[in-house]
Formats: sequence, C-alpha cells, structure tokens
Amino acid sequence: MNKEEKILEFWEKEDIFHKSIKNREGAKYYSFYDGPPFATGKPHYGHILATTIKDSVLRYWTMRGYQIPRRVGWDCHGLPVENLIEKELEFKSKKQIEEFGVEKFNNACRSSVFACVSDFQEVLKRVGRWADYSESYSTMDNNYIESVWWVLKQLWDKGLVEKNYRVSPYCPRCATTISNFEVNQGYKEVKDKSIYVKFKIKNKDFENTYFLVWTTTPWTLPGNIALAINEDLDYCLVENNGEKYVLAKNRLSVLEGESAIIKEFKGKELVGISYEPMFDYLASQDIKNIKNCFRVFAGNSFVTDGDGSGIVHINPMHGEDDFQLSKANNLSFFHLVDEAGTFNSIAKDFTGEAVKSTDPKIINHLKELGVFYKEELITHEYPHCWRCDSPLLYYAVDSWYVLVTKIKERLVENNQQTRWVPEHLKNGRFGKWLEGARDWDFSRKRYWGAPIPIWECSGCNEKLCIGSIEEIKKNQVKEYKLDDLHRPFIDDVKLRCPKCGKEMTRAEGVFDCWFESGSMPYAQWHYPFENKEIVEKTFPADFIAEGLDQTRGWFYTLDVLATALTLDDIGLGKNKPAFKNVITNGLVLDDRGRKLSKKLKNYPDPKDVFDKYGADSIRYFLLASTNIGEEYRFSEDKVKEVWRNVVLSLENCFKFYETYIPKDKKIIPSSDSNNVLDKWIIGRVEVLNYGINRFMQEYDLTKAARLFGGGQSEGGLEQPQGDIKWEDYSLGAFIDDLSNWYIRRSRRRFQKPESEEEGLEAMQTLNYVLLKLVKLIAPFTPFIAEDLYQKLKSKDDLISVHLCDYPEPDVKVLSHEFYDIYSDMLFARNFVAQALAKRSEIGIKVRQPLASVSISARNGNQVFKTNQQDIFHIIKEEVNVKEVLISSKQDAGVVFDINITDELKEEGYLRETIRHIQQARKEMHLSPEDTINVYYRASEKLIPFIEKNKEYLAKEVLAKEFILSTDALENKQINLGEDSTIIFDVKVV
Ligand SMILES: [Zn+2]
Ligand SMILES: [Zn+2]
Repeated sequence: MNKEEKILEFWEKEDIFHKSIKNREGAKYYSFYDGPPFATGKPHYGHILATTIKDSVLRYWTMRGYQIPRRVGWDCHGLPVENLIEKELEFKSKKQIEEFGVEKFNNACRSSVFACVSDFQEVLKRVGRWADYSESYSTMDNNYIESVWWVLKQLWDKGLVEKNYRVSPYCPRCATTISNFEVNQGYKEVKDKSIYVKFKIKNKDFENTYFLVWTTTPWTLPGNIALAINEDLDYCLVENNGEKYVLAKNRLSVLEGESAIIKEFKGKELVGISYEPMFDYLASQDIKNIKNCFRVFAGNSFVTDGDGSGIVHINPMHGEDDFQLSKANNLSFFHLVDEAGTFNSIAKDFTGEAVKSTDPKIINHLKELGVFYKEELITHEYPHCWRCDSPLLYYAVDSWYVLVTKIKERLVENNQQTRWVPEHLKNGRFGKWLEGARDWDFSRKRYWGAPIPIWECSGCNEKLCIGSIEEIKKNQVKEYKLDDLHRPFIDDVKLRCPKCGKEMTRAEGVFDCWFESGSMPYAQWHYPFENKEIVEKTFPADFIAEGLDQTRGWFYTLDVLATALTLDDIGLGKNKPAFKNVITNGLVLDDRGRKLSKKLKNYPDPKDVFDKYGADSIRYFLLASTNIGEEYRFSEDKVKEVWRNVVLSLENCFKFYETYIPKDKKIIPSSDSNNVLDKWIIGRVEVLNYGINRFMQEYDLTKAARLFGGGQSEGGLEQPQGDIKWEDYSLGAFIDDLSNWYIRRSRRRFQKPESEEEGLEAMQTLNYVLLKLVKLIAPFTPFIAEDLYQKLKSKDDLISVHLCDYPEPDVKVLSHEFYDIYSDMLFARNFVAQALAKRSEIGIKVRQPLASVSISARNGNQVFKTNQQDIFHIIKEEVNVKEVLISSKQDAGVVFDINITDELKEEGYLRETIRHIQQARKEMHLSPEDTINVYYRASEKLIPFIEKNKEYLAKEVLAKEFILSTDALENKQINLGEDSTIIFDVKVV
C-alpha cells in the first residue's frame, strides 16, 4: 500500500468526509449539483479532470466554513444505454426490439446501467473525490420519474408544451427525432455527391427550357413538389451546348462549355411558372393540394446566389425551409420515406432502399430520364447521430416540443446572473446559443426512458398532461399497479377523458434524456413530493462544473427548465438560472493534441499513473497546467514534472525541517521573528493565502493553483504610491521560493545556529509556514497535505487537515515594512542571479570564495531599504564573497574582485572537501546524530592543509577524527585542480 492509499484508508476509518459535513452543522449551506454521468463506460481522464475541479472547489468551501452535502447521481436512461443493448443483441432496427418485447428489452437496459459503477467509484475515490456514494440517486427511479413529470406539467400549465408536425433532425437507425443541440454533438466531415439537374419548364415564354437546380441530397428529388427562387436576385436565360437554361446570373460559372445570355430578368418574374414533375410518384396520387404544386415560389429568406444555381428544389418532408414555404403556400405533405429511412411503396423504383445509399441509383435514373446535367464531389460537415453514428436525415414527423422560443429573452437575462469560467462563454458560446435557441423536441420514439406523461383522447382529441402518480389515480379507468412507471406497463394505463368521458391513451414516446438530467435539481430529491425545504434552500446551485460540450447539453437544459419553473415564484424564487457559478473545462488531449483513444494507445492507464506519481500529481497537473476552458495536453512526463516540482519539493521542505528539529523539544509555530528571511517568508505565505482566497472567490482555479508552484516568481515591482494593496505583490510560485530561497539561505541557522534562540526562531518560523501551507494546499493536493499535517500537528489539533478552517491572511503583515523586505528580496535575488551568471562566465566555481563583489547604489549610498547589512549577508553567502561593496557608479553591473589569495584558495579547498564528505554522509543515509571517522590519503602538498584544518573540518562534517591512512580506501575522490586530489573513506563510529 502506498502513502496515498494509506491516507484513503485513514479517511475511511475515521470517516473524515462525513465529519467534514457534520462539523459544519448549522453553518451556511453551499449548494452543488453533480452532473450525472452514464456509468455504462469506463471512466477516463475527462472524468478525472471534472472530478478534480469539483473536489477542489468543494473542499475549499468546506474549509471556508460552509456545509456541503455531496450527492452523486447516475444517468440511466436514453439512447446510449439502448444502443449498448441493441449491439449486444445484434439488433439492426427498432422492429427487432418490438419483436423481442419491450419489457425484456427494458429489463436488459436496466441491468446494464450500473455495469461500470464500481469502476467509476474506484477511480473517483482514488483521485480523492469526496462524495456520498451510498446515497446516490438514479434517473430511472420511480421517484425521479415522477418529479420529471411534475416539471413537464409546470411547463404544460404555462403553455410551453406543444405537439407539432415539424421537420426535425432524425436518426433513421434509432428511428427517432433528436434535439437540435444533440445534432451539434455529432458533425463530421464527409464527401457527398452534389448534382445539377434540369426541370423542364411548362410555359410558352420558355419553350424547350429548363430550370437548372443544384442539390446535395439527390435522394430527396423523388419527393420534389416545388422550386424556390429569390425575387430580388438577377436571373437569366442562357443557351448552353444547344439547350436553354434559367439560373441566377451570378452562377453562370457552373455551366460547362460555351454559353450565351439570351435574356436577363429579376427573380420575381419567375414566380408562378409551372414545370414538369421529374418523378410521377406524387403527381399521380390523389393528395391534398397537389394541384398547387410543381411551380416556382419565392423563398427570399433562404435562396441566395452564393452557391448552386440560385434555384432551390423543395421537398417539405426533409427540410425546415421547404416545410415552412410549403405550409405558407398550401402545398402537399406526403412521405415517400418511412420511419426507418427507406423508400416506401409509392416510390416504386426504390422501395425498401435506405435513402442515402440510393443516391447512385437515383443519379442513373435521372440520366435515363435525360434530366441530369453534371455532378461534383463536395466535402462538407454533415450531422451524425451522437450515439449510433448513423448519418442523420431531416424528417417531418409529429413530436412534442418545449416552446423555448417563448421564454428565450428571459433565458438570456437569467444567464446574466451566472458567473462563467472562462468568462467569455457567458455571452459567447453559451449566450449566443441561448439567443438562437429553438423549440426543443423532447420526445423520443424509444423505449428506455421516463415515459412522456401525456394522454390523448380518441373521442374529442383532448390532451391531458399528468404531473404525479396521484393524478393518474384520479383519472384512471381501472386500478393499476404503477410500481414501475416505465414502458411497457405505462402504455397499458388508460385514463378517462375529463371532457367527453371516452378512454385516453398515452402519447407515444419517452423523454429526451437531457430533459431528465436537466430536471436533476428537483428530481434528485423527489421534489415537490418530498424534501421541499432542501430543494428550495439549494436552488439555484452555488456551483457546477462539467466539460465544454455541456453548453449544448446539460448546462442548457438545466437553464431552460429552471427559467420555465421560475417564471412565477412557486418556492424556487423568480427568474432564476439553475446555477450561480460554473466552471467549464476543455478536452484532455495527448501531448501532440490528439484525442485520447484506445485505438491509438496514446495515454497511460490512470491506475499506473496513480501508482507512480500519485493522485496529487495528476490533480495538480490538471488544475495548474492549463487555463480553464482550454484543451489539456496530457502526458506522463508532465505529471512527473509536477510530482518533482510540487509534491516532492514540498516533501523535501518538510524533511529538511524534520531533520533539524530537536527530538526532545516541541516547536511552537510562530510568525514573530526579527530575521529578515523569516519576515520575508512569513509575508510571502500571507500573500499566498490572500491570493488563493481572491482567485477561489472568482472560481479561477488555474490562477489559484499556480500560486503554489509550476513557475518562477515574477519580478519588477514599482514602489506603490499611497496605500499598499495585496494586488501590488507579484504572486509567484511559492514552493520554489520556500525551498530554493528561504530554506537554502536559512540552512546555517538550522544546522549551526549561533545561539539556541537563533535556531529556535528559524524552526518556529518554518513550522508556522509549513502548517499554513499544508492547509492552503489541502483542497488542491489533499493527500500530501494530509500526510504532512499529520506530522506537523500537535496532539490538540484536529485529526485531519480537511477538518481545519481555511487560513485567513494575517493582515498585520500588510505593512510598508514587509513591502520593503519583499521588494529588497526580489532585487537581491535578481542581483544574485546576475552574479552567479557572471561567475560562470569568468569560469570561477561558486565554491571558490572571492574577496568582493560590488553592487550599484540605487539611492545615495543606499542599495536596500531594509537593514542593508542583513541583505548583504544573504548575498555574500549566496555568491560566496567576503564582502559586498557599494559602487557609486550607476548601472555598473556585477563586478567581482577576481584576485584569489592563498587564503581564499585554501577556503575554497575546505568548502569542496566538506561538500564531498557531506555528500558521502547523505548517500549513507546518516542523520546528524551519527558520528563518523574520515580516513584519507592526499597529494603531498594537501596533507599539511588537512592536518592544519582537521578540527574545523571534523566539526563541519560531524566527524570525530580525520585519520591519514595508508590502507586501500574506497574510491571517493575530491579533485581540487592542479594535480591536487584527496581520496577518503567514511566510517560510522
Ligand atoms: Zn442513432
Ligand atoms: Zn375526450
């Protein structure tokens, strides 16, 4: 069991998650809605990302003192599940389901929905996600369904539900309509044939003349009933290869070979002209209004001369514009295509054939009829079924609609109350989508879903929408069991018509599963039948988070239903969106920007990455690597980098601390030190604290997480005028500041303090900083935070870091004094960086002490605003010089005194020797309590040097003795240049 797994066990054993909620009894409520996932597939990095975001935000607000119950839910219904079962049963069409039996089919669906729940729970738990797995809800429960019915009933009562015969996106394989926002999830680039065909004009002014028409769907031509032009465009009659054509003047380029214009005219002159039907299927039938068909009509709103020929063929059964034009002009509506997407018996030459694959046959037919002009191959984006991948059709059919267009303005306004992260989505992708919202086809002619609770009367055509089981009981013609509200049982339920007394039958179909997930705020609690108080208290959600694709899915349906339900205040408030804050993440791609795919094997198994680098590393990578909303480039190497820079680095800071605290002494955390480095790091941790609170309040997780690590500190602060604000501080990577500056520069005070007080002061400071740091980082990397907290806490502290209150920044640190220290330290670090670069440029190792370095004065004879000698001291140690001199030349740069005296040279030797012996101690895993003897041999001239400095060296490396030895020694070698080497061995005494 690794360290993180032990922590998971500790949380479980001590029930820390539930304690973190119980502890906040009576505190302010923070409401979170969890988007229910389908548990029919395995969890992937996308789930890990969303869950990391949710968990970090919720842990943060819990520590800030809020009570946050966390219920999880499972999306059970809909096409995803049905498809899975159809594949298992090797079904190709809906007919096979009916033959198999709806009850058996739905049972198979029901038993598969939780197939992967345990995989989900395992992965989510391993990431550290805290949620109430035991009290989950599922959308297939009767209670859930009853609330969905209640939601629809509210919309029905407000006149927002309507049955309509319209052209909808339609999947011929699933044999159901789907909603326009589902269409948006399945566009794919395909190559199709587009053709130009000839419609022969029946008019004495246009003898032997054809309308030239372009279409990308040849299979819709048998159902042609009209042509449309734009009245305001210029058209012309041309002669081309011995035949005469009418087309838009701007589209003459589509003609092949030579052509000559005979006449020009406006489109409006073409309106009303008749043409010969291309196929006789419809013309020969006795169909209502057929005598109005086969003419030219004005279609100014959709006919352009941007492509094609400027003349559009009209088939009202497969196009929205076509449908509206036909309705306005009293044309005929008649299907040649059945619900499975195949030609019916009226289209006798193609009966039984799937429409899209009939294109080549139709083209041959057109050639035989002599009405074919030419064909082209086009590449375009074509919609496909989001679940089964079949190309969609547009198909005229009866469906139930939520009249979203009626509440569109309110929807747009309510969205203004929501904070979107990233912000541009609010009035961009999501806002624009709302502005263009269309009526929502929410009925699916399918089986496994919440059944639509609308009953229709066979006698008087009355329609009744049921909002509860109670209402069924009130209207039923006989007693029904109603212990399972699914099909087929609900199909048998007959109601008594309140108007005429005849029997009513349930309307066909089940809910779009997005209607069900959009009802989640109410249905998860069986509102309003139960839990009224909880729902009304938790609506709207304070926070939700899902992927970017949900702007066309869950986010959208949540807001549509919330807006409709809050048109009046029925306990949920008035004019509300469903959520106050939303974080929207982008996709997780591989490091070359490709989708993660099982086929490409371009991603490591999450389990392996957890084992190698831990959940904290994955979490931190996901939180800090990418701005929220952008695409993630995932690779194991990048997770490893996080592990090294953040997790390991933090662990090493603690190990350093642990190494030097005296075992017999309790260190009390304290922020009260006079040392300039201590003051600096304490101020830094307060600024960190402030920055995190600020960004978390803005739900900007990326900025908050980046404050810990993953980058260098930013520099260059101007002296603030007047009051200092926290914002004036540059917020750099804290862990780097702590380990690579504070701890490095404080080493001596821990290892060899000049007085007991000096050592204690440093230890108390580091204890204070670490304890605060583990609390600050706890929401982001909960495991390492817990691990270090356990080691730092005293016995009176709370048992888990996740039960602690989130720290508040200590405002008294916000002073001009700290500001001066802060900017001095920044300046000093920049100077040191330049000085070290300079040393490497002149080729003198840092371990060789030099006499001096000079620094340009900034203000009179003053370089620093705080105690200059303290900062000089830090610079001296860091660049290894005896003295820092002030040059009064401005901008002189870094100037070293490079004259190395014998004394300096000897000191360099000493340092090098000490370093090598310390390194050996480290490799032997010795602690400061272990005393050693050092055995050595050396070049002739070095022996007196060592003998002279023996005592000093022994003290430095915690050795008892330095012993000149002639024995064979292990090959540990110190090369001091100029043929001077020391060979040594270390033995524990
Ligand atoms: Zn489909
Ligand atoms: Zn009736």
